[in-house]
Amino acid sequence: MLNKSGHAARRGLMLVISSPSGAGKTSLSRRLVADHAELELSVSCTTRAPRPGEQDGREYHFISHADFEKKVAEGAFLEWADVHDNRYGTLRAPVMAALSEGRDVLFDIDWQGCRQIDAQAKADVVKVFILPPSLPDLRRRLHSRAQDSDAVIERRLERAKGEIGHFDEYDYVIVNDDFDGAYAQLVHIYRGEQQKLSRRFGLEAFVAGLMAEEA
Ligand code: 5GP
Repeated sequence: MLNKSGHAARRGLMLVISSPSGAGKTSLSRRLVADHAELELSVSCTTRAPRPGEQDGREYHFISHADFEKKVAEGAFLEWADVHDNRYGTLRAPVMAALSEGRDVLFDIDWQGCRQIDAQAKADVVKVFILPPSLPDLRRRLHSRAQDSDAVIERRLERAKGEIGHFDEYDYVIVNDDFDGAYAQLVHIYRGEQQKLSRRFGLEAFVAGLMAEEA
């Protein structure tokens, strides 16, 4: 029961990871994708400017407000939202292509996007929320990133409280007080969800074969 990519035949899943900025979700997401060939990261479109070190097409597709509006009108987004005074959206086509080929897709998106994706594809969505161990810790992480001005960091901290309030809309919550521990929990969740009966193809035929065998 192996498919073209050598994995057990099953429906691809949509793994949504949300957290306030700075709680570590980007590092956790990138490591999970690097360690799992069957998982790809959805690269969102955003109207915000690239931060130092970010590359167009890698962290985000950086597009103008006009281009963003055009894509909204065309129905190109699976979901989109206003976050921190900018627009962010997930392109529909690459996600559908990956799922139809039996691959999984990871989304690093906020609670608004998570709600929209969940409403469209509930059975395929797994929702994980990452919490920081404390707000002083979150502040330290935002400062150590040193990519945003103090005013932006203060606004992000304020918004973090709003984002954290949505933790109970998720299936799993991980407190990221230690990267390796949080990562191990994320891997357990992902691997467990891959094995869910409702996502697996061909088991009926396999079991029928088992039943027909001589013991
Ligand atoms: P940042 O500007 O720090 O990269 O991201 C800000 C927030 O926007 C993060 O919480 C991130 O998860 C969220 N975000 C990134 N891409 C998308 C997207 O395509 N849709 C939605 N709804 N949120 C996104």
